[in-house]
Amino acid sequence: MDLIIRRAMLPPGAAPQYKEPVDIGIDIGIEAGRIVAVEPKLAASAREEIDAAGSLVTPPFVDPHFHMDATLSYGLPRVNASGTLLEGIALWGELKPDLTQEALIERALQYCDWAVARGLLAIRSHVDVCDPRLLAVEALVEVKRRVAPYLDLQLVAFPQDGVLRSPGAFENLKRSIAMGVDVVGGIPHFERTMADGAQSVRLLCEYAAEQGLRVDMHCDESDDPMSRHIETLAAETHRLGLHGRVTGSHLTSMHSMDNYYVSKLLPLMRESGVAAIANPLINITLQGRSDTYPKRRGMTRVPEMMAAGINVAFGHDCVMDPWYSLGSGDMLEVAHMGLHVAQMTGVDGMRACFDAVTVNAARILGLEGYGIAPGCAANLVLLDARDPVEAIRLRAARLAVVSRGKVVSRAPAARAALSLEGRPAQVDFKLHPD
Ligand SMILES: [Zn+2]
Repeated sequence: MDLIIRRAMLPPGAAPQYKEPVDIGIDIGIEAGRIVAVEPKLAASAREEIDAAGSLVTPPFVDPHFHMDATLSYGLPRVNASGTLLEGIALWGELKPDLTQEALIERALQYCDWAVARGLLAIRSHVDVCDPRLLAVEALVEVKRRVAPYLDLQLVAFPQDGVLRSPGAFENLKRSIAMGVDVVGGIPHFERTMADGAQSVRLLCEYAAEQGLRVDMHCDESDDPMSRHIETLAAETHRLGLHGRVTGSHLTSMHSMDNYYVSKLLPLMRESGVAAIANPLINITLQGRSDTYPKRRGMTRVPEMMAAGINVAFGHDCVMDPWYSLGSGDMLEVAHMGLHVAQMTGVDGMRACFDAVTVNAARILGLEGYGIAPGCAANLVLLDARDPVEAIRLRAARLAVVSRGKVVSRAPAARAALSLEGRPAQVDFKLHPD
């Protein structure tokens, strides 16, 4: 074999054929970019072996909602002074005329390096199609081609200024699909009226159905409880038979909606197979801005949707761009924030937050061969933690990242990480040098 990872702990449910916990861990055999064996004490040898020594091995992190055309542009041409969503959109508008393809590609590739180092091997990125030059589209299609050997980059045609409101946006969107963009995007709450918003949802879903494409809209990213485009999105999904292929991103207005209305909405979403993406770092930062106190959190109803059988994932959304000054491509940081904002502090809830940045997100992207079983793609992350909850707690170091069967990144264990007993697990530096 090419590679064997020995004595790995797997996420709960990842290898149901073995009773958990398997004290000695599981060995994972890899050949020609695929997982070929998953069993205790695998009797085989390989050119390269990694001893996980009881640490967690998981399928890679998946970011289902990102903006790679804007990432790492923090401070260009100025910083967002108010920190609001609308100033961010205005700032992005100021930056757009100055974008060059080279700079955009360079920033995106740098971000992909950060992502790989953090075990993030699949990203769905929105790309703004409102610039008629489609410069960002060309750049990200090129980035997608260049990173394809080690990272799955899926692109969404995103009409940032509104597909109806921005002249020519629908034509640009169709051109971007012809250029290699994968998914149809939208932003109904940014159209001029509620009616225009609903009309944009119909238009875009019909186009996606015609073309056999997936849909992922920025939907109801607002504190307005009457922003209800998710209802139209679910109804159109149902009408057009797009079940399982449509996602509503953000859905922050649901935070403020009437409870009775939500009790009708969630079954409609479930019936349509519409998935949801919350972006905890960004939602907690941008929503509730016009409140005094008490101040709303603004994140959508994550545990309630999960309980209703709706697939919910967490996205990073932004890293060092007009909307968010922080971030580093760490999906464990995203899960950590989501867990807190949603108050998902029970054991099942904490594990569900890990799923929200791994398997749930992979389902939204429609990734094939995602998982730890013979036949799956050999994309794996060895974490400096024993289980998913500890991984979130410590934002655990990615000791090794394997993509398409090859080790693409390694990192040392965090030297000051505390063991469960509260003692330093591995401290090999001097606190008080002589
Ligand atoms: Zn977004």
